[in-house]
Amino acid sequence: MAEEKATRSYLAAALGCYCPRCREGKLFKNPSPYAFGEILKMNETCSVCAQPTELEPGFYYGTAYVSYALTIALSVATFVAWIVLIGMSTKEGDYRIWYWLVANAILLIALQPVFMRLSRSIWLSWFVKYDPDWKTHPINDESTERVVKEHMGNW
Ligand SMILES: [Zn+2]
Repeated sequence: MAEEKATRSYLAAALGCYCPRCREGKLFKNPSPYAFGEILKMNETCSVCAQPTELEPGFYYGTAYVSYALTIALSVATFVAWIVLIGMSTKEGDYRIWYWLVANAILLIALQPVFMRLSRSIWLSWFVKYDPDWKTHPINDESTERVVKEHMGNW
């Protein structure tokens, strides 16, 4: 155990946009999500373990839901933070809720490239299982359905 290379946790791999199978290879070609025109350019296969990143045509259509969930989660977080740090009320002349709305909208727009990448990374991680022995195991393309079911059981 001790001599093995420390691997990323599921969360670190998903949030860091690493390949879900080996948790070492980068999913995206350009490390910066703000590289214009390259936001969604992915390596076709993982550069470390050769896991394909697009399991089937249109694989990433479903990421809209993940992106939506991220948007909601962030909005809730900033809303709560705003109440705690700045405060808001429904009193007339108190515009603080509108300030939050504007600030949150700007933040969401600014984070769009990050969310687009995160959505793909998280999406892929639901279909491709982490394999600590990826070096010796063959890539199992046929296991997709089984992996999804297993994941659903873990929710
Ligand atoms: Zn990999």
